[in-house]
Amino acid sequence: MANLGCYCGTTLYDTGTPSQNRIHIYTESEIQASLKLVPKLKFWDFTYDSEKFPVKNENQIEYWYCTDCGRVYVVPHKPNALTLWVYEKLPGNIPDGVRVDKSWERLHIFTDTEGYDAAEANNCAGYDTVMLEDFIYRRPRKFVYFISPDEKYVVAQNAADKTFAFAYERKPITRKQK
Ligand SMILES: [Zn+2]
Repeated sequence: MANLGCYCGTTLYDTGTPSQNRIHIYTESEIQASLKLVPKLKFWDFTYDSEKFPVKNENQIEYWYCTDCGRVYVVPHKPNALTLWVYEKLPGNIPDGVRVDKSWERLHIFTDTEGYDAAEANNCAGYDTVMLEDFIYRRPRKFVYFISPDEKYVVAQNAADKTFAFAYERKPITRKQK
C-alpha cells in the first residue's frame, strides 16, 4: 500500500524515507523470540531487512500513523489491502474497568523517523552497528506502551514513573475503502 486516506481527511503516504506515516510496533514476545533466535541481532536487519531477518510481523502487517489526528491503522502487507483496524486516541482517562495488569503485553513502538535517526546517530557510515536489544531496551523514551489481551486498548504510561499518560481504543472501520 502506498497511501491511505485517514478519517480526518489527511492522506498518509509511505513513499518517503523515512516515512512520516509509518510506525513500527512489536510485542515484547516478538522481540524476545527474535533475540533468542539471533542474540546479536542488529536493529537494522530486524526492522528493515526482510532478507536478512524474515521472521517479523511487518511481512504480514503494516502500521500507519496519522501525524494530524494520531490514529493508527493496522493494514495487511499486500497491494490494495483493506484496513483491519483503526486505533483512536481517547480524549480523557482510561475507560472505567480498563486496568493495565500482568495479562497485558508490553509493546515496543517507534516511528520510522526514530528508527532511522537512531541508526544514523550511532554510526554515520552505515546502519550496521545498532543492536536490536540496545535500541529496544536502552534508548531514552517518554512512554511505555501496553496492549490489552483482547487488543482493544493500548495504554501509554510515562516511562519515568509509570503513571497513566493516554490510551488508544480500537474502533470499527466505519468508512468504505477504495
Ligand atoms: Zn488523521
